Amino acid sequence: MTLHIRTPLIESRPLSLAADCTVWLKLEALQPCGSFKLRGVAHACEFHHARGAKRFVSSSGGNAGLAVAYVGRKLGVPVTVVVPETTTVRAQELLRLEHAEVIVHGQSWQEANALALSLMGDDAAFIHPFDDPLLWEGHASLVDEVAEAGIKPDAVVLSVGGGGLLSGVVQGLQRNGWADVPILAVETHGAASLHAAIEAGELVTLERLDTIATTLGAKQVAEHAFRCTQQHPVQSLLVSDRQALEACERFLLDHRLLVEPACAAALAVAYEASALASYRNVLVVVCGGATATLAQIQAWRAALEA
Ligand SMILES: *Cc1c(COP(=O)(O)O)cnc(C)c1O
Repeated sequence: MTLHIRTPLIESRPLSLAADCTVWLKLEALQPCGSFKLRGVAHACEFHHARGAKRFVSSSGGNAGLAVAYVGRKLGVPVTVVVPETTTVRAQELLRLEHAEVIVHGQSWQEANALALSLMGDDAAFIHPFDDPLLWEGHASLVDEVAEAGIKPDAVVLSVGGGGLLSGVVQGLQRNGWADVPILAVETHGAASLHAAIEAGELVTLERLDTIATTLGAKQVAEHAFRCTQQHPVQSLLVSDRQALEACERFLLDHRLLVEPACAAALAVAYEASALASYRNVLVVVCGGATATLAQIQAWRAALEA
């Protein structure tokens, strides 16, 4: 029994028409806690649980924290999530629905994370949102499922925050003998830490983040994610907040699924007629995101118009 589900893989008619190639969607938005994070987080938590961890600690107010909270409830392990004051009320609510202890502390993630680390003790396991080989190994299972379905894409489109999903998909492609399948790694302009690292040829720490896709907001990607771009064909693409927001709205209309702008950044590439022109069969990882609400989408839309 796994804690994540085997998600549907569907051919998208609207996206295929927009992109002028066949677009397959891996619907990670349908994971019980709303994102692909469950794959890696469940793998990491089960690993630590089997070695005697009696508590899980996270400092993510987003989908990683939610996944830890979900897994903790399922395994009967208490979870503490320390989040900064900037975390939305909605995200805090979702964490409490999973019966996690939520501690609001500090103005930035750095401060929340420092407190989380100080709460650790011997019997607790800290679950990182993106920088841990256990996570990548778990995320890789999404590619195994595509391979088992017998569909080999000629490109994979996915969003990049800290690069955990990218690292996992690279691992999945390689272990299925698909090292030749390129990845289109998408960020928004205001959170382009992978893009900056590729340009510079080394890891770069962004001075600030400025995007509605807050889930993509890692000032620096994991070292391993950057290494992946040197060992696997990875093309870095950037979209604007406007494109991500419009992709959110279009995807809701086309597939009746509400995803975060972080996920819609990848969808925006598929909705862009020219971006996928040289491919025939493209897999888009619909990574999901549970913190999006219709009211928030409408507020962003209003702000954009103003
Ligand atoms: C975590 C997350 C991302 C980014 O994943 P990384 O592993 O940090 O690159 C993108 N979209 C959603 C919905 C996420 O939850």
